Amino acid sequence: MGTDCLFCRIVAGEIPATIVRETATTVAFRDIDPKAPVHVLVIPKEHYADVATLAQGDPGLAGELLATAAVVAEEEGLLADGFRLMFNTGPYAGQEVFHVHAHLFGGAPLGPMLCR
Ligand code: AMP
Ligand code: ZN
Repeated sequence: MGTDCLFCRIVAGEIPATIVRETATTVAFRDIDPKAPVHVLVIPKEHYADVATLAQGDPGLAGELLATAAVVAEEEGLLADGFRLMFNTGPYAGQEVFHVHAHLFGGAPLGPMLCR
């Protein structure tokens, strides 16, 4: 995808980010506008628009993304009290960046699953 995609540009090092973990295929970095004490985004380096496209196109890579999220959750000290992993997908979910990303939230009680 390249230059049109914000997160591809983070992967390429063209836009700065606070990277907390990088593997051969994934990157985890702090959200620029955190919604919880810990708010990390976990992405594949390869461009997929959303989690459905990723899971159907490369299930192994989807698993690697989850594995990176789990390691970050452990490193951030979230395993004992718990955390939330969330993929906004499409307009009803309010997805804004169309490079698949898992939101990893933790560090405090996170409230109900959905606002009503
Ligand atoms: P979503 O609404 O699920 O597409 O979430 C996009 C997320 O990307 C939001 O939580 C933003 O705060 C975050 N975000 C946007 N630009 C950046 C950036 N340059 N670095 C880190 N996070 C970003
Ligand atoms: Zn991208």
